Amino acid sequence: MSCPLCSSAAKEALVAKGIPILDCTDCGHRFYNVNATPFAPAEIYNDAYFDGGGAGYSDYRADRQLLVERGRMYARKLERFTSPGRILDVGAACGYILKGFVDEGWEGIGLEPNASMAAFAADDVGVAVRTGTLEETEIDGKFDLVSMIQVAAHFYDPAAAFARARGLLAENGLLLIETWDRASFSARILGKHWHEYSPPSVVHWFTPKGLTDFLSHNGFERIAGGRPSKWISGGHARSLLKYRLGERKILDLIPSWIKIPYPAEDLFWALFRKR
Ligand SMILES: [Zn+2]
Repeated sequence: MSCPLCSSAAKEALVAKGIPILDCTDCGHRFYNVNATPFAPAEIYNDAYFDGGGAGYSDYRADRQLLVERGRMYARKLERFTSPGRILDVGAACGYILKGFVDEGWEGIGLEPNASMAAFAADDVGVAVRTGTLEETEIDGKFDLVSMIQVAAHFYDPAAAFARARGLLAENGLLLIETWDRASFSARILGKHWHEYSPPSVVHWFTPKGLTDFLSHNGFERIAGGRPSKWISGGHARSLLKYRLGERKILDLIPSWIKIPYPAEDLFWALFRKR
């Protein structure tokens, strides 16, 4: 399969969960071949992905407060570059991050392949989240901001998704991306055991440089970036640790309500402006 970003040839870099992971021989992008592996977003990001533990979440809704706060944190970061306007939050789940933006004065909609998460957003969180993917859903109007918080790694056609995001942005609109850094220290030390090598739900493994290079050649200019601090709930930490270490009684001692600082060294965010 050729590279989904630049169409150059790719070669195998490693195998994770039985799936060969490929490196582009030209731009260096790392991905797996979604054409060789059945990929249906609504099935992969099904209800169990958000509630069943494993590679997904033990209980996504338990992190409500943390995720709303994460949206607010990004909204405040953006104050240097824009006043609040219209946002499209891609991969919105049940709308918590979008809610954080709304709390800070933004208005807009979310997009989410999982229908029950989208319904929960409307019924319980009070924000508008539509069911669908960025690559395929029809969306009206222009946006001042498109946000992709831990979403870009899941696109089945990232070039199409970023082009779509650009088309939906108003002039000088902003694209905010938070995703995992495969060039980070922990990713390099852990190799194929790094938690983000979990296909099929994770499809792409970016680096800050690779993402910036691609978007710079495709109508965007990088204007800010860095590493987010990240707090997760005890319940989510327990689920991740059980997934790595197996069922251990001692892990049950971690209370669900506690907030645990999570090493965000392998995560990065970047803000781009439409050129
Ligand atoms: Zn490439």
